[in-house]
Amino acid sequence: MKPPAFHYEKPSSVDELLDALTQHGDDARILAGGQSLVPMMNFRLVSPEVLIDINGLSELDYIRRDGDTLSIGALTRHFALNESPLVAELCPLLAEAYKHVAHVTIRNRGTIGGNLSHADPNSEIPAVCICLESTMIVRGKKETREVSAGEFFLGALETAIQPDEFLAEIRIPVRKPGVGSAFEEVSPRQGDFATTAIAASLHVDGGVCRSAAIAHAAVADRPARIETAEAALVGSRLDDTQITEAAELASAAVEPTVVNYHGDAEYKRDLVRTLTKRALHRALENCAA
Ligand SMILES: Cc1cc2nc3c(=O)[nH]c(=O)nc-3n(C[C@H](O)[C@H](O)[C@H](O)COP(=O)(O)OP(=O)(O)OC[C@H]3O[C@@H](n4cnc5c(N)ncnc54)[C@H](O)[C@@H]3O)c2cc1C
Repeated sequence: MKPPAFHYEKPSSVDELLDALTQHGDDARILAGGQSLVPMMNFRLVSPEVLIDINGLSELDYIRRDGDTLSIGALTRHFALNESPLVAELCPLLAEAYKHVAHVTIRNRGTIGGNLSHADPNSEIPAVCICLESTMIVRGKKETREVSAGEFFLGALETAIQPDEFLAEIRIPVRKPGVGSAFEEVSPRQGDFATTAIAASLHVDGGVCRSAAIAHAAVADRPARIETAEAALVGSRLDDTQITEAAELASAAVEPTVVNYHGDAEYKRDLVRTLTKRALHRALENCAA
């Protein structure tokens, strides 16, 4: 299938991009890596009148440290993040999750901004952003907004980005001493979207868990934290008994709605239990690393 006819624009600056978004609004779509948008157009699931190609905007392609934050430009390709020593050092959870994202040809073109803006509930990176309390920088002509990851994902393929805005940058807090993380996933094949995935991060100080974050992907229409399980860990010296209890709480707390031939609700609850337990054990080991 080929997509329906569309007008094509390629801004050469962010100001031109904002002008184009303001002019075309809902009739336009941004083209980043095209790895989700183009198949959707080919299947006629979306039919934008105008494609605004941002691939010329190299100023949106960067990975850098800004104090306690890892700042990532929206046009940064998956492969660059997957290979980046800075990401591996400052944000090991993102680096680990990227091992599960797509195949090499898709990673060469796909971008983190496109991935997050597309908001596929089965994608790994939104769950990482939720787990690490990241901030999305959303730019419009009138204002630049900071949107917490928790408020960014509104549902399947739905985000807080307005038609005249775009996602410019992702800010992720860098790993602090005593923090350990782990990402666990089950998928039909290596590089496929998750059947279910869990991102976990623990802060242990003096042998006691000071904070815990657990986020799921491919369970509901958007990634979310599992707060009852997190609360069961904080203030304790963690061992297998506590981690097993937290995993049980996580399984009981989720209400799987993304159910398909890869897994029904009961299977996904089982996966949440198993993957949470695995992720917490590894995150605890990584606190000392
Ligand atoms: C076979 C296959 C397997 C895949 N497996 C996985 C996987 O395992 N895990 C996973 O996470 N993903 C997977 N993907 C999806 C891949 O990660 C895509 O690259 C990604 O979801 C979209 O990024 P993109 O840059 O290609 O965006 P595009 O396809 O160009 O755009 C996607 C959507 O986001 C919008 N958009 C893009 N950039 C911006 C921006 N900066 N601001 C506002 N809106 C924007 C577009 O208008 C469009 O609506 C897979 C894709 C394929 C084809």
